[in-house]
Amino acid sequence: MRIKNSSRRDFILNTAKATVAASFSFSVIPALSNEFSKGYKPEQLFAQQPLPYAYKDLEPVIDPLTMEIHYSKHAASYLKNLNEAAAAELKSVGKITLEEILKNISKYSTKMRNNAGGHYNHEFFWQCMLPNNTSKPSSKLSEAIIKTFGSYENFKTQFSDAGKNRFGSGWAWLIVTPDKQLKIYSTPNQDNPLMDIAEVKGTPVLALDVWEHAYYLKYQNKRADYINNWLGIINWNFVSQQFDKALL
Ligand code: MN
Repeated sequence: MRIKNSSRRDFILNTAKATVAASFSFSVIPALSNEFSKGYKPEQLFAQQPLPYAYKDLEPVIDPLTMEIHYSKHAASYLKNLNEAAAAELKSVGKITLEEILKNISKYSTKMRNNAGGHYNHEFFWQCMLPNNTSKPSSKLSEAIIKTFGSYENFKTQFSDAGKNRFGSGWAWLIVTPDKQLKIYSTPNQDNPLMDIAEVKGTPVLALDVWEHAYYLKYQNKRADYINNWLGIINWNFVSQQFDKALL
């Protein structure tokens, strides 16, 4: 998304807010069609959704410059590389979704693994945060968190530890496993729990980016402070929706 001026940005953001918040699902990302003979171009295969808030809206937890670089440079780069990999590797006629690629990621290149993961993870991550946050877990999710982890405080500690203890770059996840249990763990690099190569597989419910690019300008080496503050901007409305969907 190229932002030419603030009024255009506000228009885009306001237009996008309601629809993205209401309908987020990877089924709304254009299903990838590799019928190139019909005129598809690599840059049209997948796209970034507009952020559902402005770069400055997550202050003071995340500063505007970090958000801008993260969204418009880092995440945009994963998208570009994903579209290149998709154009090169998806030869057969037909349609395939990003989730289907991830579920069979062992059959693709490292470039596809890193960038299909990078695109999915970031699109998911943006939705996990909410400005002026007053959201709370749904009663169903709240009950499941307490049943699984003993208390909300224990959940926060375990989730934080998953992020803090990820050596190098990666993600912390709350997922629903195939047997419908909540589980916390972390993945390296841009891997995620949908991938067939994942150590633990499941449906993402909450994702936290612990790459240095997500926090370094403001927090430098203090990843623990970033994580601790980040817990306060979790969009529990979105997370509760993902939990409900994962139980279907
Ligand atoms: Mn990132």
